[in-house]
Amino acid sequence: MGFYAITGGTTGIGAATRKLLQEQGHTVINIDIKGGDITADLAIKAERQRAIAELQQKAAEGLDCFISCAGVGPTEPGDRIMSLNYFAAKELTEAAFPLLAKKGGNALVVSSNSANMAGLNTEFVAIMCDEDDEAKACQAAKGLEGLAKQQAYQGSKFAIAKWVRRISGKWAARGVRINAIAPGATMTPLLEKGLADPNFTTGMRTYPIPTQYGKADNFLKPEQIAQCMLFMISPAADCLNGTVLYADGGTDAVLRTERF
Ligand code: NAD
Repeated sequence: MGFYAITGGTTGIGAATRKLLQEQGHTVINIDIKGGDITADLAIKAERQRAIAELQQKAAEGLDCFISCAGVGPTEPGDRIMSLNYFAAKELTEAAFPLLAKKGGNALVVSSNSANMAGLNTEFVAIMCDEDDEAKACQAAKGLEGLAKQQAYQGSKFAIAKWVRRISGKWAARGVRINAIAPGATMTPLLEKGLADPNFTTGMRTYPIPTQYGKADNFLKPEQIAQCMLFMISPAADCLNGTVLYADGGTDAVLRTERF
């Protein structure tokens, strides 16, 4: 059976993924701000580094898979969004590389289908992807309020998918594939917070999810995303590398019909 690590495995999409993996008999180390096997606030650099050191110790024999799922939504402060959704995701996944290389494993990073929606702040993306400057990114996003915080969320999710695509060739050449998943609106504590916030509730309810039309539950379920994630990290998907899979019930196809 495999040895896996996941960030953000305590609730929502991460919890559903962890449960499926455990049901298959795998060992899963959960790194989370609450209820983790390694407990750390990954938005804080020092805690992130402590979590990495603990992971290196626990997974000294290597990892079959690393899943970066921890994230906060657009209702949270902009600097926390930048630190957790991009810098922590990148730093932990990078740190997992040597552990994955030991076993020919693979990595999966959770982005979002909002990454390619209208309104992307390309300056934010450049600060993250090109300048790689966490302090500057946090400073730039700190003052954002209300709906404007979506720029930090969307930017962080675009940036992390871009990072995955940039490094995927180099990693695969060394035997470790890496992909990203871009979920649509999924009923989790993160979405619940957005729906409860007057700045976001209308937008979140506006995006159509074609596969959910006519269903009592109009949002996706964490288990649906988790099933896609399980496929992406499985040997059956060993030709996938640098792929960003839209697991959004067809929302992206409706919003950006002519692009892919
Ligand atoms: P969630 O809030 O249920 O899960 C987030 C997880 O991250 C939780 O286990 C939480 O404890 C953990 N976490 C939060 N802050 C942390 C921190 N500072 N340090 C360590 N762990 C922390 O929400 P979710 O919807 O399951 O989100 C999982 C991922 O999916 C996120 O990256 C999110 O951006 C992404 N996503 C969600 C949706 C959606 O509609 N729910 C859509 C697209 C992408």
